[in-house]
Amino acid sequence: MSFSVYVDDAILHRALSVGLLGAKMEIPVKFCKRIGIRFIDTTGALKMKLSRILGVACLLFFSLSSWSATPPTVTIFVDATSAPRKIFHAKLKIPASAGDLTLYYPKWIPGEHAPAGPVIDLAGLKFTASGKTLKWRRDLLDGFTIHVEVPAGENEVSAELDLLSPATFEGGFSAGSSATDKMAVISWNQVLLYPKGWKSDDLTYVARLKLPANWKFGTALPIASTTGDQLNGETQITFQPASLTTLVDSPVITGEFLKVVKLADEPSTEMDIAADSAAALAPPQEVWDHYKNLVEQADKLFGAHHYRDYHFLLSLSDHVVHFGLEHHESNDSRIDERGLVDDTARKKEAGLLPHEYVHSWNGKYRRPADLATPDYQQPMQDDLLWVYEGLTQYLGEVLTARSSLLTPDQVRDDLALTAAALDHTPGRGWRNLQDTADAAQQLYFAPQAWHSWRRGVDFYDEDTLNWLWADVIIRQQSKGKKTLDDFCKLFHGAPSTPPMVKPYTFDDVVNALNQVVSYDWRGFWTERLTNHGPGAPLGGIEGSGWKLVYDEVPSEMERGGESNWHFIDVKYSIGIDLRENGTITDTIEGMPAAQAGIGPGMKLIAVNGRQYSAEILRDALKAGKSGTAPLELLVENTDYYKTYKLDYHGGERYPHLVRDDSKPDLLSEIYKAK
Ligand SMILES: [Zn+2]
Repeated sequence: MSFSVYVDDAILHRALSVGLLGAKMEIPVKFCKRIGIRFIDTTGALKMKLSRILGVACLLFFSLSSWSATPPTVTIFVDATSAPRKIFHAKLKIPASAGDLTLYYPKWIPGEHAPAGPVIDLAGLKFTASGKTLKWRRDLLDGFTIHVEVPAGENEVSAELDLLSPATFEGGFSAGSSATDKMAVISWNQVLLYPKGWKSDDLTYVARLKLPANWKFGTALPIASTTGDQLNGETQITFQPASLTTLVDSPVITGEFLKVVKLADEPSTEMDIAADSAAALAPPQEVWDHYKNLVEQADKLFGAHHYRDYHFLLSLSDHVVHFGLEHHESNDSRIDERGLVDDTARKKEAGLLPHEYVHSWNGKYRRPADLATPDYQQPMQDDLLWVYEGLTQYLGEVLTARSSLLTPDQVRDDLALTAAALDHTPGRGWRNLQDTADAAQQLYFAPQAWHSWRRGVDFYDEDTLNWLWADVIIRQQSKGKKTLDDFCKLFHGAPSTPPMVKPYTFDDVVNALNQVVSYDWRGFWTERLTNHGPGAPLGGIEGSGWKLVYDEVPSEMERGGESNWHFIDVKYSIGIDLRENGTITDTIEGMPAAQAGIGPGMKLIAVNGRQYSAEILRDALKAGKSGTAPLELLVENTDYYKTYKLDYHGGERYPHLVRDDSKPDLLSEIYKAK
């Protein structure tokens, strides 16, 4: 006799399939009793009574679940006491059975939208079982996969590994420079391995962390206990068991100079700020007030939250890489050491924390289905980053204004710079906005040279303009009764939940917008994503009652950017982006410098026969307005010197927004605190 199992219930069928693939499989007896399972023999002659059938079915499930075990619990101990030497040691204990144990080093890093896990910095790998060293080999088709040979009779493998954190300044997001003599950020994905066959949600990690003597710490990862070593001052933290998803989503900031600033209660919201000096942690009181406003304004925008508590992990250092990375319950944001205390630096970085905070709603809770991957090895698809990052960029700027981190004038100046830069991006002619998202996993790592022709991850900036446009359309179509805030409440808001992922598709975005106000949103976004210009999409700026213009006086934000990031902006006059030292980082196709033969990578040596400086160049642009002689630029290119003549007489040009009095001022309305 042979028999087959027929399953009437589609849900059970899915559960059974998952079980066969090795995921968690626990079907209680009472569930077996509720589902319709029929056993028939191949002749159809045998009829069994229902009670007996159910008994056999449950036995079958029991035997299935005994070979597809419950997900393992991994313990991990990270020794960060050598952080100033920029090496981190980790030890893991991983349940295993005889045969091949396949382990993964996280490859696709959430929020980085790319296979950016620093596997090149993984060193000191050693596997043992019962004290004996085990053989291992890297997978030939995927360098992030390690195969360990587990001998018979063993049920646990001990792993040792080191993370070699960049020793000199290096970019690359969380894989870039992350430790100094005084502070460090620990990203758990960089110091662990995980076993194949499980979703990151299903694996449990019990983590312990040891810190350098007298270093304090901040993290959203719930703590079980903290012990301090009386002799050497080293702190050891034991965290509560957490899923691998939560662990990787909860970095730890640590340092000698660490300040905790409470921003709100219920849910508890705080800043944990580590700096390379105590002085960097003492900005004017109004700075903390503005960040308190940020939490209040975000609450009013979304009307609910999706974290248990929230930590802004802020690094202030000139030696760690500068970027921001979002998490459900925290963000890992890194700026200059004087990024809070220096007025100019503070203004230029003011939008960073609002952006990363918005991601808790837009990106972590609501996430494009193509980015909601079950583990860190499955490739991510970046096609909806125009919502994930673009909407976040727009809302981040709105909240920057509403929380008074910048004045409305300053936010508007930033918007003018965004619009003007896109207006001088001829690459829009060949690469549409959708392709900047589709190719994001490469474009995040693109060089600065040829930026305006190659294009970069423009879905941040171009979609700031596009979501403003959408906001304006909602306000116009609803005659001022609805705004994009209503979309945020509908799409990202109530009910409040702990961290969870609610995936969405393009259709979901279109449908939600239509629930706010009926409009051809599909047509709108399709046009915005596939449009080739020419010029930037300015419908939102113009619809909100403002116009993009150029004059000879740079805005406060323009000058601030130049001094903060050490570049000279003559993009809108002769079409050159250059560093303070004269190195040309980009030239804009079709503009005077490119037409004369100048390209990225060359170096400006002299202007009209006199040694180059920013002032000399600006003076020459001004003087050229009233003359007819060409602007002469002596340029060095691969050891050769050549003078290029530019027939340019337009003077200096810098972007601004000015009011269009024929229309209502919606932009100022959008920027007003709620
Ligand atoms: Zn972002």
